[in-house]
Amino acid sequence: MAVNLQTPIDYLKGVGPNRADLLRKELGIHTYQDLINLFPNRYIDRTRYYKINQLQRNNADVQIVGKIKSFKEVAQKRGKRLVGTFQDETGTIELVWFRGQKWIKENLKLNKTYVAFGKTNWFNGKFSMPHPELELLEEHEKNLRSAMQPVYPSTEKLSNRGITNRMIGKIMQQLFIETNGKFVETLPDYLRSELKLINKQVALFNVHFPKSQDLLSRAQFRLKFEELFYIQLQLIIKNLVHKSKIKGFPFDNVGNYFNTFFKAHLPFDLTGAQKRVLKEIRADLGSNAQMNRLLQGDVGSGKTIVAFMSMLIALDNGFQACLMAPTEILSVQHFNGLQDWCKILNINIEILTGSTKTSKRRKIHESLENGTLQIIIGTHALLEDKVKFKNLGLAIIDEQHRFGVAQRSKLWHKNTSPPHVLVMTATPIPRTLAMSVYGDLDISIIDELPPGRKSIKTVHRYDKNRLNVFKFIRDEISKGRQIYLVYPLIQESEKMDYKDLMDGYESISRDFPMPQFQISIVHGKMKPEDKDYEMQRFIKGETQIMVATTVIEVGVNVPNASVMIIESAERFGLSQLHQLRGRVGRGAEQSYCILMTSHKLSNDSKTRLETMVRTNDGFEIAEVDLRLRGPGDIMGTQQSGVLNLKIADIIKDNDILQHARHHAKSILKIDPTLALSENNVILNTYKQLSKYKNIWNYIS
Ligand code: ADP
Ligand code: MG
Repeated sequence: MAVNLQTPIDYLKGVGPNRADLLRKELGIHTYQDLINLFPNRYIDRTRYYKINQLQRNNADVQIVGKIKSFKEVAQKRGKRLVGTFQDETGTIELVWFRGQKWIKENLKLNKTYVAFGKTNWFNGKFSMPHPELELLEEHEKNLRSAMQPVYPSTEKLSNRGITNRMIGKIMQQLFIETNGKFVETLPDYLRSELKLINKQVALFNVHFPKSQDLLSRAQFRLKFEELFYIQLQLIIKNLVHKSKIKGFPFDNVGNYFNTFFKAHLPFDLTGAQKRVLKEIRADLGSNAQMNRLLQGDVGSGKTIVAFMSMLIALDNGFQACLMAPTEILSVQHFNGLQDWCKILNINIEILTGSTKTSKRRKIHESLENGTLQIIIGTHALLEDKVKFKNLGLAIIDEQHRFGVAQRSKLWHKNTSPPHVLVMTATPIPRTLAMSVYGDLDISIIDELPPGRKSIKTVHRYDKNRLNVFKFIRDEISKGRQIYLVYPLIQESEKMDYKDLMDGYESISRDFPMPQFQISIVHGKMKPEDKDYEMQRFIKGETQIMVATTVIEVGVNVPNASVMIIESAERFGLSQLHQLRGRVGRGAEQSYCILMTSHKLSNDSKTRLETMVRTNDGFEIAEVDLRLRGPGDIMGTQQSGVLNLKIADIIKDNDILQHARHHAKSILKIDPTLALSENNVILNTYKQLSKYKNIWNYIS
């Protein structure tokens, strides 16, 4: 009989309650199944031995054959460390233990031939290997199965408590003994033969105990495919269910407002990309399903007018629309922009933010409820329970990475039936990642900038060149341009950052004295009114220089500002740098971005700066960002489960992801409920996975 893979790990021979506890806590391994799915991070060649004189200072795992010649105890600040001198025919290294010293001394034998395995450190002209794995050579040779020995994920606690890599290997072996290595196939035959995938049993065996490099590669491919296939299947099903279950308001009319605006009042010709995206949105709004769309477009690509025209469609169908932005400044800017168009079209529009006066607020609440107010712009204030709509048909969220998923759904529930939702972001997410993270969102992309934009020239300058930079500022101001000067503001060092900002402001004020020059300053600690006042002065052109923290990061539109100077640019992330740079280059003039840094730069900082200097393409920048930081920081990834991947890598295994998605899609197209007998295997696996939530933690 097959062993039940849901058996708790405690029952596996050689594990026992203590180890089981550690495995649960440290690696999340509760059952046999979890253990099988503990895949090696990498493989090392344990048939390869290094000589001590071949060691490099790169801190990689190595194996050395040699003898322990002596032990000594060395006192240190706290306690002592045990040092063994390990010798081969080419030299000596030190083996070092900070813990478990008694056991080591009692159990290791001097002058016997051992294989020492571990990472080496280079210190004071000598190599050492802290906490090595040691095995007598003869035993090592007996145990040696292949050149590719798996290295399993581990934690410090595990290795401290004696659950070494070798121990995990042994437990894994025991698991294969108890189960006879028999595992249920999870992909249907037709798919396996079409894609030439090896079967599950062979794959699992070879991923843990590779017989050859070729089999290992095929095993990995199969398991990665499977993992990504089921995630994609899940996402696509979720999307299909969403579309069939959640009815949207069908906006059948493209009527008066839209047509009048389009025919008579368009301030400029729409770009091809804007037209395409509007078509996509119109198709969604006209269908019976609720729209749930992500609109990606680089800063300055013209998302606002697309948003506005989408709202007009809602209004044409007798519904209200709202636009929510993350900051007061942005909301005001949107409001000011849209107000003019609304006036022409005779549309009622209002703005609601934290600083809206009570009397005004009450009026807004009222007119939203009785439906006389057609468009409302605002901040989080829109989410308050008091805000009720007569019939909200379309909710637009700008720069969504500032809003959590929970907030999105709060807007959603403001109606008996959910409104259509359009989420706009200027932080491009590589399409493939977006696909796997937002399987439930449809995606539109504006990938074309309005005509006539000159691409922004970006340079990197060291602090010591500040005088030249100041001279450049002076020249630009004399041409009538305006300048942004931005300081980082990082939570942890807030005090220091404010000091930097104020110091910077003072020094700038000295170099650019009044009355010839006027300077605005805006930061997070100011009252909204003061912020707004300073902002307005800059927008109106009364000040030439705007000194700010990243408050201005999102959305502000001052076409005459043509120079963006970013102080301590090495401290900003790539997407933030790109966002900031997007504040300039909005007018007809040549614009510049100057990245100021100190001389001390980490490799990652260098890559970020080089990338900024090389390209203006938001998607390219997003790809680099993803490579540098991994997907963890990108919005939505936390919830999506792509971080819980067991074997596939969302970035490196992109090709496999595409494959997997393609097949999941075409299978569901033919057999949306997985009812065909040939898809039995898929249905069962899918149910099983959902039940035990292996990689499905993100199902809400
Ligand atoms: P973002 O996508 O960053 O929100 P905006 O909607 O603020 O961009 O547009 C940036 C600027 O480009 C605005 O001044 C807007 O009026 C202008 N703009 C947008 N679309 C076009 C277009 N098709 N032709 C010319 N200018 C445009
Ligand atoms: Mg915008």
